[in-house]
Amino acid sequence: MSDCALLPVVGGDLQVPLVDGSQTRYINLDYAASAPALQVVADHLVELLPFYASVHRGAGYASQVSTSAYENARVIVGQFVGARLNDEVVFTRNTTDALNLLASIVPGETVFLDIEHHANLLPWGTTGRVVRSADTIAETLELVRAELACKPAALLAVTGASNVTGETLPLRALADIAHRFGTRLAVDGAQLVPHRRVNLAFEGIDYLAFSGHKAYAPFGAGVLVGHSDWLDAAPPHLLGGGAVTSVTLDEATFRTGPARHEAGSPNVLGVATLARAVQELEKLDIATWYAHEAQLRSRLVDGLSTIDGVRIHRIFEDSVDPVGVVSFSIEGVSSRLLATYLSAEWGIGVRDGKFCAHPLLAKLGITEPALRASFGAGSTDADADALVEAVGAFRASGPRSEYELVDGQWTVAGDPRPRPAWAPDLGPSVGFYGCAA
Ligand code: PLP
Repeated sequence: MSDCALLPVVGGDLQVPLVDGSQTRYINLDYAASAPALQVVADHLVELLPFYASVHRGAGYASQVSTSAYENARVIVGQFVGARLNDEVVFTRNTTDALNLLASIVPGETVFLDIEHHANLLPWGTTGRVVRSADTIAETLELVRAELACKPAALLAVTGASNVTGETLPLRALADIAHRFGTRLAVDGAQLVPHRRVNLAFEGIDYLAFSGHKAYAPFGAGVLVGHSDWLDAAPPHLLGGGAVTSVTLDEATFRTGPARHEAGSPNVLGVATLARAVQELEKLDIATWYAHEAQLRSRLVDGLSTIDGVRIHRIFEDSVDPVGVVSFSIEGVSSRLLATYLSAEWGIGVRDGKFCAHPLLAKLGITEPALRASFGAGSTDADADALVEAVGAFRASGPRSEYELVDGQWTVAGDPRPRPAWAPDLGPSVGFYGCAA
């Protein structure tokens, strides 16, 4: 039983309006998109904000404190992921930015799987080589081995945990395969780090990318951790102040180390809150942490499986130990309509769409947008039960309110729910981009 959240999160008791005019507790089942901030992270933000000032640029006391907070975060994050002595911790805008940085430093071709988020597909460009995954992880590892054996590659880039199904890959085994052929392993840890302890040194991961906003910190800072040689040899990720030691009108001399790739004023609040969040994750007892999530996942999957027509998506027949991400479809039901109903009539927040993983959905034969429920340290049995009950009610008797298609999107007809004045309703098409399509 997970009656209680594992860690307190901000917004855990947020009240949101329903279409019938009542209010209910917001049931956040969209952690995989952006997780709520931990309460201790928010407390740290309040502590830090008065000192918020320029980083690496000021002699004032507040600037010095902000600079220390920023650089100390580098140490904390490096330790948290088991960085080795020659590893660098480079702060980026998010995972997408971190993987784009990685793509710009790889001295050769990259091999990747067809199950990836677009952030771990598109940066590899025209020289990237895709391995089409098989029905089992065991066979997929063999396909990766064969690809690397046939033709060398500089990098193998894989997801740690799928943002569609939550399934995890055996990273140590992949590192062993890659290293056998002189290939480095990069892990897209966006969905893994918020759910599992990851250790570069122990698992043989050469590069790890992840985002603060999925790991219980606000502001969306990201990070790339890994060997310094490629990072120092490559052109700077961004050109501008902070990355250089000297500049004339004819030439510039660039720094080595993380500063080489971090030009411009850094996101000190994003980075400091990311560090505070991972400190909290580090304190968790692993058995308790994983059991909390596994129990919630089973409860949700078991509950949804009892509902007529629900198909829960899965990539591999032999996967074990998935994280708290569950995608599903209901035959003949628009996921946009269902997601809108869940919000309007139950106060439940889920994700609908193709999850920025279009090739994976095509591979799984999912032609229409699907739904995704995702959860974590702030989630409880009540959250899982609410979703099962709401989906069951939809299946049994349909929505109670009126919905209409506007610009191709399902919306509540005459939606009466108020919005804060600073976040007005700008219409149904605002806020849904390509990944939702
Ligand atoms: N990789 C995976 C597996 C993801 O789930 C996401 C975001 O959903 C990303 C990469 C991109 O992360 P970000 O939006 O923080 O750049």
